[in-house]
Formats: sequence, structure tokens, C-alpha cells
Amino acid sequence: MTGSSTRWMPARAREPGLRVIVDIVPNPVAMGTVPVPLLAGRVRLTNGSLTSGACCPGHRRLDHRRPVGFPIMAALIDVPAFRDSIPSGIIAVADRLTATGAVGDLTSVGGGAQAEVTDDGALYLAWVGVVDRAFTGECDCDGPSDDDGFCAHAVAVALTSFDADVRFAAEADPYAEEPDHAVYQRAVRMLDPARLAALVVEHAERDRLFAARLLSAAGLLEHRSAVEVYEAVLQEVEAVTTGSRWEIADVEDAGRRLIAETEILCAGPAGTEALELVEEAIEIWDGLAGHLVDAYDVRRLDPEDVSDALAEARRDLLDR
Ligand SMILES: [Zn+2]
Repeated sequence: MTGSSTRWMPARAREPGLRVIVDIVPNPVAMGTVPVPLLAGRVRLTNGSLTSGACCPGHRRLDHRRPVGFPIMAALIDVPAFRDSIPSGIIAVADRLTATGAVGDLTSVGGGAQAEVTDDGALYLAWVGVVDRAFTGECDCDGPSDDDGFCAHAVAVALTSFDADVRFAAEADPYAEEPDHAVYQRAVRMLDPARLAALVVEHAERDRLFAARLLSAAGLLEHRSAVEVYEAVLQEVEAVTTGSRWEIADVEDAGRRLIAETEILCAGPAGTEALELVEEAIEIWDGLAGHLVDAYDVRRLDPEDVSDALAEARRDLLDR
């Protein structure tokens, strides 16, 4: 190893994560070109471009002294070295999982690959990718794993992604680009069922829309009572500008209430009754929206937000 531009050590002498050779190459998918020859050995990213690094002992030597200025990098995994680095008990289970189709569809998450893995009736979410220059696995199981986090599920996802020629980012983060729903899915999988149930009940007590969806999903939402509540809301909303003591804010509140209550109504079963009520709401709002149109310079709610939400609810009911 020479110079100060590299801090790489022979891989096997350092952290366990560096056992697996990671070649970093310009990403042909992103660049639209296939790099030949591939850079071999360990290289490091400096300000977004590649500089050469020390090669691992015995690793094939290609043109890895030449600086390459591609900003978008991909990592190549040495598959045999990866297999060798995994304890035999784990690789045996992973091979069985891949052979039996237990690995679901691969998705690209945070520069790595993620998939659901079914094992013994349970579903796990496993991710593999290059973190801190080491090929790394993440999984929500609590089964045995090696030093780099590779349990049998993560190994199965890795093997599947090698077969699928997945291109790994040179630097990935399993959580970086994770959309909220994926984080929630992860949380749901990790929680004890009793704790999860308590959280759901607590939330239903605070949020009527969520409560309606919960009951509807369980087939327990009483259509009759949902309809009665909505009818009462319509009467109150319609009466908001009667008398002389109302303000623009009251009309805005009525509009927001219409949106929220319509969502709750639509969480239940569709039917002509629900459809007629939403159509009535559209008419009532048409009558009120004029006040907000006139008050365009002070209003904090666009009357069209309410009209659009109601029209969408109507379409949704018609489609069902
Ligand atoms: Zn696992």
C-alpha cells in the first residue's frame, strides 16, 4: 500500500465485513456504458471520483491505478468469496430458502436490495447492500447471523440478487430512502402482537376515521350509525351561515369537517345511501363555497379543496 490517498488494508486482516471483495465500478446502468476492464481490488471514493487503493493479496490485478472520474458508482460483489464468508449452517438454510422460492420480489431500497422472505410460516424483511465499504445484511428476524448481519434470510436475498444481476450502490443505506410505510411495516413486524393491538386500540379511541377503517376491515362497522352521524353533520354544516353571527372561519371549519366526515363515511360499505349523502354534501358545499370565493383575500381554505375531495369521494363510491 502506498501514499496517503488510501487507508485500505489487506482485506482479510481487517474487519470481518471486508472479507468480501467489493469492486467499485462506474455504474453502467446509470452511465449507459459498460466499463471494460472493470476496476479490480479495493478502491476508494474521493470527492465522488475513484482513486486507486491497495489491492487485496492475490486479487487479480487490472487497471486499478488509473483514476476514474465517474460520479455514480456501483459495487460488484465477489460471489464465491461471499459464500465462503458465511457460516455453513446459515448458507445451508439460505440455499434451501432460495431453492424453495421463499424469497419474494426484490425491490431496490437505499442503494441495496430488499425482499420479504418466508421461513417456517413467518415473514421477514431482509436487506443487503454495501455499507461502509462492506457488504452487509439487515433483517428483522432474531435468528443467528454472522458479524456482518447476515442471517439466512439476508443471505437468501443476497443470493437471489446475485442471480438477478442486481447492481449495488457503492455506498448504500437501508434506511436512507425508506418510505414511511416501509418503516411502519418494519415496526409492525418487530412488535409483539399484544403491544401492537394495544397501540391500535389506543389510536382508534383518538381517531374516528381510523376507528371506522378498523371496524370496516373487521366487518363490524355499522352502516346505519355511520349514516346517521353523517346526516347530523350535514344538518349542522348546512346551518353554519344561518343567523347573523357567523364568520368565514366557521365556513372553513365546516368545509374541513365535510372532508373528514366524508372520509369516515366512505371507510364503510358503499351503497346508494352513502352516495346520496355525499351528493347532498356536494350541494350543501356549493351553497357555502361562495362565501369563501368572496373572501379570497382572508380565507385560509381554498373552497375547491373541499369540492375536489367530495367529488373524489363520489367517484370512489360509484366505482365500488
Ligand atoms: Zn433474518
